Amino acid sequence: MIRSITQAKPEEEIDELLSGFGRVFIVGCGTCVTLTHTGGEPEVKAMAEKLSKKGKLTTGHVLLPVACDNLTGEAVKEYAGQIGQADVLLIMTCAFGVQTVARQVNKMVVPALDTLFIGKETGLGQFDEICTQCGTCVLGETGGICPVTSCHKGLVNGPCGGTNNGKCEIDEAKDCAWTLIYERLKALDRLGSMRKLQKPRNHQGEPSPGKFTL
Ligand code: SF4
Ligand code: SF4
Repeated sequence: MIRSITQAKPEEEIDELLSGFGRVFIVGCGTCVTLTHTGGEPEVKAMAEKLSKKGKLTTGHVLLPVACDNLTGEAVKEYAGQIGQADVLLIMTCAFGVQTVARQVNKMVVPALDTLFIGKETGLGQFDEICTQCGTCVLGETGGICPVTSCHKGLVNGPCGGTNNGKCEIDEAKDCAWTLIYERLKALDRLGSMRKLQKPRNHQGEPSPGKFTL
């Protein structure tokens, strides 16, 4: 399952962002941030308690089923009263959820989390980034293993030379991505793919702000 991976912002940063606001409505999400324990029900309740100890009044809270979904508008309407009493919304979701909620309310929103990457759960409580949406996908030449996210240096033209017994020179607990790619291509009898020179990254392939029209 693909998830938006987040981590809590430092408490001082949240305090700073909330300074001057006395009444807060808290929003959590029942999907990715519940799985990563950064914005689920327990974290939302703990945040409400923490804010209360700091002299803030929580006018209410809600755990949206999927904060980044368009249906969020309907859910937000149900809490219009409590949201209306608040000076600010503290959003414990990924940045997609924060932006989705922000479009539905006429109030300042404060993110309580930093969004790190879109990741896949690879083990219990462990998430790996699998794609940065680089705009120039090379999976066709690497046997389906992404070097941009799997190699610590994001190299797309072979290994850096620091590989040690198949492990990465930056993190010896991690397999060298290019060793994995080599082994995979060898098994598929496609080692010739490694000889193909990938052109310098085309940053026009990932325009910012990103837009796509059919
Ligand atoms: S090369 Fe990697 S980061 Fe780039 S699009 Fe393909 S999978 Fe995503
Ligand atoms: S050792 Fe392998 S994974 Fe690590 S930076 Fe070098 S090429 Fe990339």
